[in-house]
Amino acid sequence: MFTSITDYQQQLFSGSTTCVATVQHYLQQINAKKHLNAFVEVFAEEALAQAAALDASRNGIVKAGPLYGVVVAIKDVICYKEHKVTAASKILAGFISVYNATAIQRLLDAGAIIIGNCNCDEFAMGSTNENSAYGNVLNALDETKVPGGSSGGSAVSVQAGMCMISLGSDTGGSVRQPADFCGIVGLKPSYGRISRYGLIAYASSFDQIGIFGNTVEDIEITLKVIAGPDEYDSTAIEQPFLLEKKNTPAKYRIAYFEEALQHPSLDKEISAGIFSTIKKLKADGHSVEPVAFDLLEYIVPAYYVLTTAEASSNLNRYDGVRFGHRTEAAVADLTAFYKLSRSEGFGKEVQRRILLGTFVLSAGYFDAYFTKAQQVRRMLVNKTAAIFNDFDAIILPTSPTTAFTIGEKSDDPIAMYLADIYTVFANLTGLPAISLPLYKHSNSLPFGLQVLTNKMDEVTLLQLSTLLMQQYKAG
Ligand code: GLN
Repeated sequence: MFTSITDYQQQLFSGSTTCVATVQHYLQQINAKKHLNAFVEVFAEEALAQAAALDASRNGIVKAGPLYGVVVAIKDVICYKEHKVTAASKILAGFISVYNATAIQRLLDAGAIIIGNCNCDEFAMGSTNENSAYGNVLNALDETKVPGGSSGGSAVSVQAGMCMISLGSDTGGSVRQPADFCGIVGLKPSYGRISRYGLIAYASSFDQIGIFGNTVEDIEITLKVIAGPDEYDSTAIEQPFLLEKKNTPAKYRIAYFEEALQHPSLDKEISAGIFSTIKKLKADGHSVEPVAFDLLEYIVPAYYVLTTAEASSNLNRYDGVRFGHRTEAAVADLTAFYKLSRSEGFGKEVQRRILLGTFVLSAGYFDAYFTKAQQVRRMLVNKTAAIFNDFDAIILPTSPTTAFTIGEKSDDPIAMYLADIYTVFANLTGLPAISLPLYKHSNSLPFGLQVLTNKMDEVTLLQLSTLLMQQYKAG
């Protein structure tokens, strides 16, 4: 078929393929791999009609949109007008978007074809895609393993060749970690790079739409389309996104955290893989140096205090009156009505987080938890700013292990939370971060290298990623 968006579009314009043939191909793949459970809904007829219209228009086209004919899947937390969006939750069963998310509007305006929406953890809370009202998703490389989460379906849609690129959301790693488990590229841009308008909120000061792809270049093309200021989201950054190539530094200055690479929870082979990349980078003349980082143990607790607090507030709109499932049981009063509607609608993990968030925001405990976690966040931001005075990038593992076995962590939420140790840092600090599938473990599963750059410096991130993918792929 094709290896990238550019390759595909060349084939389209040279007449060796059509949008309809391409959509048909992906629909066949989706159909053949239904058991992976990656899609919640497939927009087959609509995608074919969109493809036919694009094919019909091709001759007269002076300038095609940058995503002309590109087949995209989206996570079930992003609003696509007149299509269902449920955040994989029973509480939103049957809900239909009344508008397009800004990212969706921009995809469509650029000529993309949206083929379906993807399974995920309920309200994007989780690391395995096991917290979904639609059931779990299988990792196509090993069906006894999870694909990671929360954007597990979006990751598998690209991994298993059911679309070219997909959108997920990343609040604490939900694009990078499933990309790592599935052996593909996953980008979380800087906070504010992509508008959150039309993204169902989990933790608003962390949430960011992210992109899955097979290549860094595909992700770059997509990012260029969907990034940028938006009058509907005041946190979307004002500077327009200019991805013209700035001069690539001949040699990069890269930092790593010794504490992170020596952490007891980190799989030895993952650590060895990254150390060998460090060695190779140094041999090629880049400077790669350890930076002391003593905040590692505070990262996950701070993340879970702050995100559950924000989630408890964001999710209070699903009360069965304004939004959300309404109980049909006879109830004595309004409190009983709320309780029952929400208990019926929300799954266990979401309920756990609402309780935790409400607790840390309660008057008696606010200072002990919420204020402290905010202080940790501030320290991380300051520490990070200092690092980027001296370095172009930071490298980290994406996940401490390769893909978990299905069920392995589902009864132990704390163990699941602790596995977010390497990803939540970028969300706490707002940095852009990417997971690059550079390695293969002796257990045959892939794992990635995580690269972070300074806030708003996606240009360096993507340039360095391209270099790493071209020259540092192990094995
Ligand atoms: N695993 C993290 C969590 O459960 C990440 C979620 C996300 O990025 N949406 O919160």
